[in-house]
Amino acid sequence: MEYTLVTWIMRGKVCIIGSGPAGFYTAKNLLKAHPSLVIDMIDMLPTPFGLIRYGVAPDHQDTKNVTNEFTEIARNQRFRFFGNVKIGEQIPISDIRPLYDAVVLAQGSSSDRRLGIPGEDLQGVYSSRAFVNWYNGHPHFVNLPVDLSNVSSVAIIGQGNVAIDLARILLSPVDELIKTDIADHALEVFSRSKIERVSLIGRRGAVQSAFTTKELRELCKKPSFHCRTLLSEFNLSMTDASKEEMANRAISRKMKLLHETVVSDNESVFTPCVDIRFLLSPIEIIGNADGYPSQLVFQRNRLEGPSQIQKAVATEETLKEDFEMVLKSVGYLNYPIKGVPFDLSLNIIPNINGRVSGENRLYITGWAKRGAHGIIGSNIIDASETAHAVLEDLKNVTDTPKADLKDVLQSHSIEFTDWAHWERLNEIEVSAGKAEGRPRKKVCSIDEMLKI
Ligand code: NAP
Repeated sequence: MEYTLVTWIMRGKVCIIGSGPAGFYTAKNLLKAHPSLVIDMIDMLPTPFGLIRYGVAPDHQDTKNVTNEFTEIARNQRFRFFGNVKIGEQIPISDIRPLYDAVVLAQGSSSDRRLGIPGEDLQGVYSSRAFVNWYNGHPHFVNLPVDLSNVSSVAIIGQGNVAIDLARILLSPVDELIKTDIADHALEVFSRSKIERVSLIGRRGAVQSAFTTKELRELCKKPSFHCRTLLSEFNLSMTDASKEEMANRAISRKMKLLHETVVSDNESVFTPCVDIRFLLSPIEIIGNADGYPSQLVFQRNRLEGPSQIQKAVATEETLKEDFEMVLKSVGYLNYPIKGVPFDLSLNIIPNINGRVSGENRLYITGWAKRGAHGIIGSNIIDASETAHAVLEDLKNVTDTPKADLKDVLQSHSIEFTDWAHWERLNEIEVSAGKAEGRPRKKVCSIDEMLKI
């Protein structure tokens, strides 16, 4: 799609870097509020939708329906998509900024928090980001060497909603997974899985678990596996301060659900099962002769401090348990972009209401703005704030129209995809999926995508 001369001449040429929910909600706000503003959206992958395509669990197809709304936005005559363009790697951001009246960064969080313990880099220890991207067919993670044929116990460190997604997917029967858009390579690996036990390990207590009631309920209601919580750990975490925290209605609902999973410590284990564990911090991952995990060493914690800010404090007690795979699900981190300020202590791009601090007409939205927390819908308010800042500042733009991104990319010999390319790829994936009774069959190789 080419812009007309009229849209070029009128003010408001915005670039959004990143095509996940934060980017699309920002585009929606801008297009709605400004009658002649034009948007170029750039993504490093040939495909749009970022976290929706590669982060949302494959059995959560309803959540992915938000892409219908994003597709409507992308079909607007004032919107163009440029996929397969790696800002900072193929072209510096300093070459992009002069082309636009405003540049909005919406690139999400592309790094992982580390545990900082021995054994963390063994084979068979994966970050949740890598593992989730792998089963969702992210082209950069298709070669993750996952083998579940010798794995019976998996430890997931962390108790957020990503950890819940991982536990549910790891124990879902293959005849359920086959009805989703999970990547074919993952389906093959899952079909050989020997996993019987998945442990969700929290360093603090039941009340402080980061997962939400809805996600916990879905996990507990799965007919194909049990969920259990050890009575001793549950009780140990119920300090007076924890009881105070239960005054919160959302927490008390979650606690009611968790309470239904409590079993006495010596009750026999029925597998497959999810063990929800509390007050444990891993201090070492012990490897076997082949360099894969065999055991995890934990320190037992106790809770200390006032309600809402209780901390896990190490006790003298340590314990060792057998695990053949470890997934680190302790939160995502933002990664600095060359030429853009970065606050290392807060791990965000410093900003005031979406305006990047100390920069002219550079904006930020999504996880890189507020940290890696919140659901997809959290981006709506966040994006609206950033779009508002852009629109306010556009009122003062007086300089002349800029060169076109398309020409600049061509001059750098960058092979980019556009929205029409995505629509073709989408059609191919959906019709291949339909033939197998699935929502889509993902193409996972960039080379293959580019041939379409
Ligand atoms: P999260 O919610 O921040 O949870 C991180 C977990 O890791 C917490 O339990 C935290 O415990 C623990 N942790 C952090 N550092 C640790 C360490 N050094 N050792 C042991 N444990 C550690 O992160 P997330 O699960 O990655 O989720 C990110 C965001 O995406 C969240 O807002 C989540 O709700 C959202 N999400 C939503 C859905 C959904 O709606 N279905 C699905 C997936 C993700 P402490 O509390 O003790 O720090």
